[in-house]
Amino acid sequence: MIKIIRRHLGYKFFISYFVVILIGIIVLLTATEFTMPGAFDRHMAEMIEVMGPLTSELENDLYNNFNKAVNESLIFSAAAAFISAVIVSLFVSKQVVAPIRRIMVASQHIADGHYSERIQIPGSLDIEEMDELAQLSLSFNQMTLELEKAETLRKQLIGDIAHELRTPLATIKGSMEGLMDGVLPAGQDTYHQVYQEAKRLQRLVDDLQDLNRVESGAIQLNLEKYPVKELVEITQRRLLRQFDDKGVLLELDIPDDLPKVSVDVDRIGQVFINLIGNSLQYTPSGGVVTVMAKEKMNQILVTISDTGIGISPENLSNIFTRFYRVDKSRSRAGGGSGIGLTIAKHLVESHGGKIWAESPGLGNGSTIRVLLPIS
Ligand code: ADP
Repeated sequence: MIKIIRRHLGYKFFISYFVVILIGIIVLLTATEFTMPGAFDRHMAEMIEVMGPLTSELENDLYNNFNKAVNESLIFSAAAAFISAVIVSLFVSKQVVAPIRRIMVASQHIADGHYSERIQIPGSLDIEEMDELAQLSLSFNQMTLELEKAETLRKQLIGDIAHELRTPLATIKGSMEGLMDGVLPAGQDTYHQVYQEAKRLQRLVDDLQDLNRVESGAIQLNLEKYPVKELVEITQRRLLRQFDDKGVLLELDIPDDLPKVSVDVDRIGQVFINLIGNSLQYTPSGGVVTVMAKEKMNQILVTISDTGIGISPENLSNIFTRFYRVDKSRSRAGGGSGIGLTIAKHLVESHGGKIWAESPGLGNGSTIRVLLPIS
């Protein structure tokens, strides 16, 4: 019995109400017992004044009958009060326990993987007018919504990764089969193709690892005051050969006297490599990539513009979404996994900065702007 009571909040509520009712009745009966003789004597004294003295026998009879009448009506009233209190307490405990039970059932469904589960919130949806239980249900619904989003993202991510892995693996497998069957010559070209695909896989895994780190906030920033010009020049030195090979010009227009930014040099360097590298990748030979910087509202605005293929308006906001590529075949051929800009966005935002893209449309070049905090 105690075990059953311990396991049910409703019984606990009921018992607590029951104890309160019982104490109320006991107090009522005891108080009546103590106060009745005094009250009787007082009222008898008033009666005697009007009616004249009574014999002690008559007075005793009167007291006993009065006592009986009071006790009788007390017992009836106490029983009526007790029954109505029990009914009300049953109703109230049910009212309190029902929403808690709903939350319990819903959380079990969620634990079973049904993330679309929501709790009906009775009454007003205005938080100011909600009691604690309704607020608990509301928070629960918000939590399940977040869980559902995370679950959708997780599934999408697994699907995307599987999709990204499939192409290079299929190429490697195809080449190896060709080699084993003697269909493909065991020459430089075949080895080079397999090597390129393996390299692409390696890059994808590295990108995924980076993405995982930035998305989970596991990256420690080593902030230091650094001139933007130097940051861009480091990137320029690293990419100069590729620019030369492709015949694209890289121009810098950054004043020397700009205030220093407060950044993790490696991380923001990685962002610039990605952005300037993208501009190079999506600009045909003969084109120009220009990097400019200026002070704007106590921040440094870095602008990377190119004369390349441009980005259509509907793609502008999507290019920062992971695995998003405007032209799937073209960027995959160039080794792009569609994660670079997602990582760049996370890194810039973790510095307290902002990054966005602009383009007058396809064929008209693109501009990526980065706002970085001044130290
Ligand atoms: P990827 O590794 O595929 O380049 P990113 O995340 O760096 O991935 O870029 C996402 C997509 O944004 C690219 O696939 C490309 O379609 C588009 N993009 C990025 N930079 C440029 C640019 N400078 N010009 C045109 N398109 C771009």
